[in-house]
Amino acid sequence: MTEQPAIRNITVVGAGTMGHGIAQVAAQSGYHVTLTDADPEALPRALARIAKNLDGGVARGKLDASERDEALERLKTEADPAAAVKEADLCIEAVSESLDVKHAVFRSFEEHAPTHAILATNTSSLPVARIAEPLTAPGRVVGMHFFNPVHIMQLVEVVTHDGTDDDARVAALQVVSRMGKVPVVVADSPGFATSRLGVVVALEAIRMVEQGVASAADIDRAMELGYKHPMGPLKLTDVVGLDVRLAIAETLHRELGGAHYEPPRLLRDKVAAGELGRKTGKGFYEWTE
Ligand code: NAD
Repeated sequence: MTEQPAIRNITVVGAGTMGHGIAQVAAQSGYHVTLTDADPEALPRALARIAKNLDGGVARGKLDASERDEALERLKTEADPAAAVKEADLCIEAVSESLDVKHAVFRSFEEHAPTHAILATNTSSLPVARIAEPLTAPGRVVGMHFFNPVHIMQLVEVVTHDGTDDDARVAALQVVSRMGKVPVVVADSPGFATSRLGVVVALEAIRMVEQGVASAADIDRAMELGYKHPMGPLKLTDVVGLDVRLAIAETLHRELGGAHYEPPRLLRDKVAAGELGRKTGKGFYEWTE
């Protein structure tokens, strides 16, 4: 990697649940942001969600109208993946949780982004080293694991694999701080600190629905009122996306073993039926927006 210039331009690849939020927060933090997605319809949808989030922030007095307008001015979309990364100092990948899809994206980063660019993945569960494997310079790769909704959640896990360059780790930590978030540094291990623990609770809650122990709403209420979880595990699964949860569970089951990571039948059935949670309007709950 060549000498690390200050990060000004961030490209976010994948404009879904996470990508639109990462792009929003980066633009609000003063970075010039390019958002791209393989699905051209995802881009206007993401922009509309960002504008709505920012409008909500203005309405609640969290930011000024001028700050909203400046953030939107710093944000652009670009459908061509090569053009999207050509001026990036930091590329953040937030595409589907599939190693093959992520490999294709990282190969494209290596081909089209400047050689100094840091390459970050927002994976929830895949080993960062394995995502970096096909690259000639894997030391540029670091995990930046944001949480949903990105503009609200404070934590970012910064995940380093054995070969992550110090420059990449330091740059990731600086960007996280400038975004007003709190980083924790975690070694590259399946599920990092958060998914590894959180998925166990979510899968067990789904098994409890399957076994008729209680309704989804009552299980969530039990954890919210009994354990002070801000959101019950089934509602949170709807917000995260059932397909995302399933992919994480499959990875952790494969990597760590243990019956507690085995995806329940009900989760597989709902994903097969297209009940992916809030993003499709139905999961364990019905969602109107
Ligand atoms: P999502 O399905 O909402 O969005 C993924 C987006 O990636 C889609 O818009 C899709 O069109 C796009 N995409 C797919 N292949 C692409 C490619 N080759 N090039 C460009 N765009 C492509 O998924 P998400 O929930 O935003 O998850 C994205 C990543 O973030 C996953 O790795 C996931 O594990 C991780 N993550 C998700 C959450 C969550 O709560 N949903 C939290 C933390 C991390």
